[in-house]
Amino acid sequence: MFEKIKGHEQVVFCNDEETGLKAIIAIHNTSLGPALGGCRMQPYASVDEALEDVLRLSRGMTYKCAAADVDFGGGKAVIIGDPAKDKSPELFRSFGQFVESLNGRFYTGTDMGTTPEDFVHALKETNCIVGVDEVYGGSGDSSIPTAHGVIFGLQATSQVLFGTDNLIGRTYAIQGLGKVGAKVAEQLMLAGAKKIIVADINPLAILEVQSLAEKMKTEVEVVNGDEIYGVKADYFIPCAFGGILNDRTIDQLQVKAVVGSANNQLMTEENGVLLKNKGILYAPDYIVNAGGLIQVADELYEPNKERVLRQTKAIYTSLLNVYKRAEDGGLTTVEAANSFCEQRMKSRARRNSFFSHMKRPKWAVRI
Ligand code: NAD
Repeated sequence: MFEKIKGHEQVVFCNDEETGLKAIIAIHNTSLGPALGGCRMQPYASVDEALEDVLRLSRGMTYKCAAADVDFGGGKAVIIGDPAKDKSPELFRSFGQFVESLNGRFYTGTDMGTTPEDFVHALKETNCIVGVDEVYGGSGDSSIPTAHGVIFGLQATSQVLFGTDNLIGRTYAIQGLGKVGAKVAEQLMLAGAKKIIVADINPLAILEVQSLAEKMKTEVEVVNGDEIYGVKADYFIPCAFGGILNDRTIDQLQVKAVVGSANNQLMTEENGVLLKNKGILYAPDYIVNAGGLIQVADELYEPNKERVLRQTKAIYTSLLNVYKRAEDGGLTTVEAANSFCEQRMKSRARRNSFFSHMKRPKWAVRI
């Protein structure tokens, strides 16, 4: 078992027969601060499968937090169960009690299969919950800063490709017009996009973007499903789901760069090499989509949207650093991003321990 959890600081199995809670909390690394990561609920086929998932996801959060420069480390939780059948207020209160037992070492909130409302129940048992609605003291919709982050990512990429961070006059292909994708589309129209090519399985989402484009006098082309991979555009912006950059789709891409919010866009790390060899600049997803994380991490310091926006802007410089590191070292951008995070963790290790977080006065404001 210890071989399996090598590299992780702590793994907690949570079992409550009364509420039916079966969960695993994995704390990967707290050298930058307490672990932060969402809680997924899924009907995993086995405890082993759930463990694999939580170990992988919590490790990813360590890198994501380091890249976003929030004073948190990486963690994640999984609840084994069917979100459609197995939820109850008591189950989430029980989960909250397990989180509380970690005494500030782990902060969590919603992820696949869970909603902010589920965590309102957990919040009754612990303060270590982030991302609930504003009426419960949380910071609300995280897709706003996430969409801003995508725009900053596009500007940094434009700087490398075209020597300007102006997004005017380019063609953008967006996959997924949900909470993030629709906001990105709107901001691109405001920035003077020449054309936006979109794909979504939800006809309502398409209609909304079409009607906005009509008002803004921006050309929009709608394509069906997989056709989005083969369209000719300057940028491909994945905002739907993961695993979309694979051998099959990369072969079809006719863009200069990929910059989007979807998590885990690369099917495998080798697909990063494929993109590099094809001359397509890939903005690592966890750098670009950190706006939501920055917002929830900021909740510890009292909500302040201006401060969140300011910190989200740093995605621009982080991405430029990653591109330079990749260029100088002959690395893929993912390799460069990972080494950038590892260096940051090493240089700041133990300077933001969770104890200093817990002791920080409520009125303390981040700079
Ligand atoms: P969402 O569920 O609101 O939107 C996803 C959109 O993708 C929907 O409109 C859906 O109809 C569409 N879609 C689904 N299948 C599709 C397909 N085959 N082809 C085209 N479109 C398809 O999700 P969201 O909050 O906008 O997040 C988008 C992505 O960004 C997700 O991968 C999410 O994990 C990631 N992300 C989101 C946030 C956030 O703050 N919301 C933060 C970080 C990462």
